Amino acid sequence: MTELYKLSIQEAGAMLRARQISSVELTRAHLDRIRTVDDKVKAFTLVTDDLAMRQAHEADRHFANGDTVSALMGIPMAIKDVICTKGITTTCGSNMLKGFRPPFDATVMERLNAAGAVMLGKTNMDEFAMGSSTEHSAFFPTHNPWDLQRIPGGSSGGSAAAVAAGMAMGALGSDTGGSIRQPAALCNVVGLKPTYGRVSRYGLVAFASSLDQIGPFARSARDAALILQAIAGPDLRDSTNSPQGVPDYVARLNGDIKGLRIGVPEEYWEQGTQPGVEKVVREDIAKLREMGAEVGEVSLPHTKYGVPVYYIIAPAEASANLARYDGVKYGYSYRDTSDMWEALEKTRQYGFGPEVKRRIMLGTYALSSGYNDKYYKQAEMVRSLITEDFTRAFEKFDVLISPASPSVAFKLGEISDPYEMYMQDVLTIPANLAGTCGVSIPGGFSQGLPVGLQLLGNFFAEDTILRVADAFERVTDYHTRWPG
Ligand code: GLN
Repeated sequence: MTELYKLSIQEAGAMLRARQISSVELTRAHLDRIRTVDDKVKAFTLVTDDLAMRQAHEADRHFANGDTVSALMGIPMAIKDVICTKGITTTCGSNMLKGFRPPFDATVMERLNAAGAVMLGKTNMDEFAMGSSTEHSAFFPTHNPWDLQRIPGGSSGGSAAAVAAGMAMGALGSDTGGSIRQPAALCNVVGLKPTYGRVSRYGLVAFASSLDQIGPFARSARDAALILQAIAGPDLRDSTNSPQGVPDYVARLNGDIKGLRIGVPEEYWEQGTQPGVEKVVREDIAKLREMGAEVGEVSLPHTKYGVPVYYIIAPAEASANLARYDGVKYGYSYRDTSDMWEALEKTRQYGFGPEVKRRIMLGTYALSSGYNDKYYKQAEMVRSLITEDFTRAFEKFDVLISPASPSVAFKLGEISDPYEMYMQDVLTIPANLAGTCGVSIPGGFSQGLPVGLQLLGNFFAEDTILRVADAFERVTDYHTRWPG
């Protein structure tokens, strides 16, 4: 039998229900795997062994009783450290929240707990989800399991690396400008950003509230569908959450993409895409055509404004959201003074890292009086043009296709220029600005490193992009390959 940590959620679920394996064995296999490889990968900020074993025993009791259980019952998962877990440290990769224990669970955690999933621990990330390499974590960088000298992508780099290295069967991340899809691409796993409003943001520590979405990482489209199924759906505690019902994602994975209209955004090749990445993705597109899809070119003319618009809107929202870290209510507090203003200043000076401060300054500037119209309002107007690009494209096409990241994983420390780092998300940011959904799936390899294929879908068309992803997996084996 293959090692337990190599099973898919679907396979493990079937074996659990047939009582061929127990959740305790499965969980132990993953905790062992963490002990063996996480010294090198450093995906976790916290491993919750005791909790995991308790939850595994509980799941096994349900199996023993023959209870009807969810597909995630007894399945070991990892959670990005930006998602609030009741009584369990939630740091956002920041010294500001070091030791912070939320008094409540995020909605997605309530749902995973209700489904009986096992939590292995919290995963490393760029501080407050600002970054594309997980090098901006205040604690340590995470390494790419495919090449330990390289970054895993970010900001959900810990979650992507954990799933890629067999330390978790699935994981949750958050995507504000690409933080699920880009690390998924660089680590050869599936990472899905749902439509804005599909998954509740309640208990997700806010970065940019009009862009943030929680989504799944897994090693197959089917597994990602199972996780999305468990976390998606209406929640009154998030006023931007959609009341729309959730379809049965797995039931729609029928392998059939005949006649499906796939659009290739021409502007997406012009964004500094590496030739090796372009070659792989063009081959993937040819494959989808062979499978019966109708492929055509499409124009998203405002693509080049995506990154500049994002770097007004996201920092503006972040500067407001991060004002709450004042040393009074949460986490780190500078106490070595009797002066209130000094305490506030020093708390923020020592609590936040350089990238977070850069964003707060950018955002505060963009919102300051006199500049509000010039920057923020202007950005909001261009944002609506970007949304219209998608609306128009989806009148003609069911799915848009592109690389998820213009390049393969780069070396740790290789990019120090913030602007160059921001450009890593040039192909993922537009979907966040529009609010539509997207997934990155294993698309092949360039220089021995994973290339992510990005499938972009219309609002609430997660079922469509997952169907294409699953159909693609049926004729390729990229998603089954393991790092050495
Ligand atoms: N890399 C982008 C940023 O730094 C996106 C991050 C994210 O999606 N959370 O803002």
